[in-house]
This record gives sequence, structure tokens and C-alpha cells, in this order.
Amino acid sequence: MAEEILIIGGGFAGLTAGVALAEAGRRVRLIEQKPYLGGRARSFDYAPTNSVVDNGQHIFMGCYHDTLRFLKSIGTQDRIRFQPRLSVTFLDTKVGKTSLVCPRLPATWHLLAGVLRSDSFSVSEKLQVLRLGRALRTRGGGRPPDFERLTVDEWMERLGQSARLRRNFWDLLCIAALNEDPQIAAAAVFEPVLRLALFNAADDSRIGLASQGLSACYTEAAAAFIRARQGSVETARDVTAFQLAAEGNAASPEVKGIQSADGSVIEANTVISSVPPFQLVRLLPKEVIARFFPGLPSMRPAPIISLNLWFDREVTDLEFAGLRGATIQWLFNKGKILADGGHYVSLVISGAHDHIQREKDELVSLALAELRQFLPAAQDARLVHSLIIKERFATVSPTAEAVRARPAATTPVRGLFLAGDWTRTGLPATIESAVKSGYTAAAEVLKAG
Ligand SMILES: Cc1cc2nc3c(=O)[nH]c(=O)nc-3n(C[C@H](O)[C@H](O)[C@H](O)COP(=O)(O)OP(=O)(O)OC[C@H]3O[C@@H](n4cnc5c(N)ncnc54)[C@H](O)[C@@H]3O)c2cc1C
Repeated sequence: MAEEILIIGGGFAGLTAGVALAEAGRRVRLIEQKPYLGGRARSFDYAPTNSVVDNGQHIFMGCYHDTLRFLKSIGTQDRIRFQPRLSVTFLDTKVGKTSLVCPRLPATWHLLAGVLRSDSFSVSEKLQVLRLGRALRTRGGGRPPDFERLTVDEWMERLGQSARLRRNFWDLLCIAALNEDPQIAAAAVFEPVLRLALFNAADDSRIGLASQGLSACYTEAAAAFIRARQGSVETARDVTAFQLAAEGNAASPEVKGIQSADGSVIEANTVISSVPPFQLVRLLPKEVIARFFPGLPSMRPAPIISLNLWFDREVTDLEFAGLRGATIQWLFNKGKILADGGHYVSLVISGAHDHIQREKDELVSLALAELRQFLPAAQDARLVHSLIIKERFATVSPTAEAVRARPAATTPVRGLFLAGDWTRTGLPATIESAVKSGYTAAAEVLKAG
């Protein structure tokens, strides 16, 4: 029988690698530290309100081709419900409700027509968006010579996007896709978002939302897929170190297995690590990190805060909306998104560096105050319950330095492969990046024989 391949981590990246290898006839053993699968994209049953709660609202996009392929392989693609066309509502305390709805036209006419017809932009802002679209389609793709050093904000300014348009539109998009302030995030990670999600096919621009809890969309189906092909999936096993031949001092170290917290050792010549960089630095010897992955220790996390509020009545009939000029950036009406979701809304603060230390009560007060400014129906509604989820390590902050430090799937450590949303996928740290990295790591393992 073929040699067993160890995969560490049971989030989107690890499960994708496991499914791809199992599909190719390889025997997989996946090990996850937590008692549950799903990593940073998971859900749980929440007894106080009898709800299914995600660790944070996740959006999928039509351009998540690898994710859709993965979900199709495990038979759950119907659990993500896509809009027929890109349609986004913005709420603004001064101008009220506006929207961007893109008709089903060939790319990039869908976006151009949507922007021209939208009441979200002034005439001059519409021209600025058209100018940006044109720049992206030129030979240089709108990238100046110093592009790799630019932040999103600097790049948008160079592309003639006014401060108001940046604040009201591009910033909301940037923070949703990159989980970072546009004045910090690297332009190089925003460019593929624009190209793939906005200025490509109309279907790719559509937004998809899970119609069930996130975990139900993939974790058990992926584990069952692996188990049905002679593989195994273990939870609640904490890997404490990768075992290397010659302890990393050799010119070319080689992986020999892993050690777990219960003291046991599992031998393997092929290991895919899908753990985030903050964990990976602890699993490899310091010398190996310093020599082969020197950029890793400088990677910093960017937090996300999810504010889940349950009311005594419906506060909006919108499914989701971007909030302009507020601390909360996006509002999701779980009552509409989930079948039988109740009067439940989930509010998101991404790139939440300035708010992560705030007390939960303070965050609830902030959420209520902001919601009442945007939604008249929230003014008389009584808050029945709240749940604040702080994900301090939501993603790697995509600074230009961090982007340069992203490692490839193959490593100088023989037999060790890397996956995870933070690795060098060319995409921001999203589900699609995680899934793409899983497929890439699996392909490299198969190539290695
Ligand atoms: C609140 C929030 C909102 C988000 N919103 C979106 C969104 O709208 N759209 C989008 O596309 N993306 C979104 N993301 C990002 C998305 O969740 C991640 O990109 C994706 O889940 C990362 O998957 P991964 O497999 O690379 O990593 P992870 O999910 O982190 O998986 C790594 C796994 O490794 C395990 N592990 C770690 N150390 C060990 C160890 N020592 N031994 C064994 N196992 C270990 C962890 O427990 C974890 O399960 C969001 C993230 C958060 C937190």
C-alpha cells in the first residue's frame, strides 16, 4: 500500500489537500488540534438563542473557482447560495440607501453598466471608476514601477480615485476582502481582487452566502470523503513539533514525522502543514525558520470582530449591506440568510486593531448606536441577546513585507509541504486562497511521487 501522507490542520486548506490526495488514490491521515474541524471558518450550535452561529460571517464570490470545485467534489456546493448578479446595498446616514446592481452582460460591461446606473456614485465618481477599469485593462494593468511597495490607498489615489470614493466604496471592498485598513494593506493583494472579482466575468462578481452554518458546508462532508478512501481524520490531537532528520543542521533537512502533545510520534516522509504562520514558527526548529523561512516571524495578525445581535422583531429586510462612515463595515441579516434564522443580525468590524481590546459591553453599545442610525426599525426594537466573537488571529495582515514573505507550497525541507490561506497563492487570505493552497500542495506531493 502507498505511503501515508500526513496533513496537519483541518481548515479549508488541509481538508482540500486531503480530498485532492484521496481523490488521486493516496492514503491520507489528517490531524487537527481542536476537537472540531473548520479552523477559522466554522460554526457552532448556540443554545441561548437556539441558533447556528458562524465564528464570523463569511462571503464567497463567484470567482472562488477552486472553492466551488472542492465543494462539488464533496457534494455540498448547493449549500452556498449565490445572487443571480452582483447586487450590493450601501447605507449612509446622510444619503440613505443606495445600491450597485450589475446586469448580466459580458465582462466588463456588467460592472460599467452597473456603476453608470448606480445611485451610489456621483457623475465624477462614475468616471473615476471607469478610468480605473480602463487602467486595469492596459498592458501594465495600472501598476506603476513601485507598485510592490504601494498600499491600497496610495494605489487608488494614483489611479485617480478621490478621497470620498475611496472612503465610501474602495475602502469597504478592501477591508472586506483583505481584512486590513487600505492605508496598511499592500496594493499587490488588492489587484487580484479587482481583476478576478470585479473586472472579470459577471458570474465571478456574484456574492454567495452559506445557507447553513459554515461547518455544515464542508467539514464533515470532506472528512467523510477522505475516510471513504482509506484515509483518517483525527481531531483533538495537538501537533507540537515536526521531526526532522539532523535537526535542521544539515544542508537539506528532511521531515521524518510529527510529535504530538500526548508524547506520541507519528512517522511520515511526507507532511503537509496547513497551520497558520503563528503556529508554524513553533513547530519547526528556530534554525530552520531563520534559514529557510526568515520572513515568517515578522508576519502579524489582523483581527475581526463579529457582533451577533438578536432582537425582538425584524430590524431590516435587507440581506446584507455595507455601512458607510461607521465603525461597523458590514451588516448581515442572518434571519434572511439562514432558513429560520430569527431576528438575528451579524455585524462585522474587519481590520479591527483599534477595537479588539474594547470590552464586550462597550462593543454592544457601539453596535446598537450605529445600527439605530442606519435602520429606523432598530430604534424601537429590543435587544434580546448578544454574542461578541473576537478573532484576534483572523488573517495575516497583508502588508507589502508580509506579501513578500509568503512561502511556496514546496519547501527546502524535503518532504514538508505548506498550505494555508497565508502561503504564496497570489490571493488575499480568503477561503479561495486556502483551497487553492490545498490543491497546490496536493499537486506538489503527487509530483514528488
Ligand atoms: C471572522 C472571519 C471572517 C472571515 N471572512 C471571510 C470571508 O468573508 N470570505 C473569505 O473568503 N474568507 C474569510 N475569512 C478568512 C477564512 O476564514 C480563512 O482564509 C480560511 O478559513 C483559512 O483556512 P486555512 O485552512 O488556511 O486555515 P485555518 O482555518 O486556520 O486552518 C488551520 C487549522 O490548523 C489547526 N492547527 C493549528 N495548529 C495546529 C497544531 N499544532 N496541530 C494540529 N492542528 C493545528 C487549526 O486548529 C486549524 O483548524 C474570514 C476569517 C475570519 C476569522
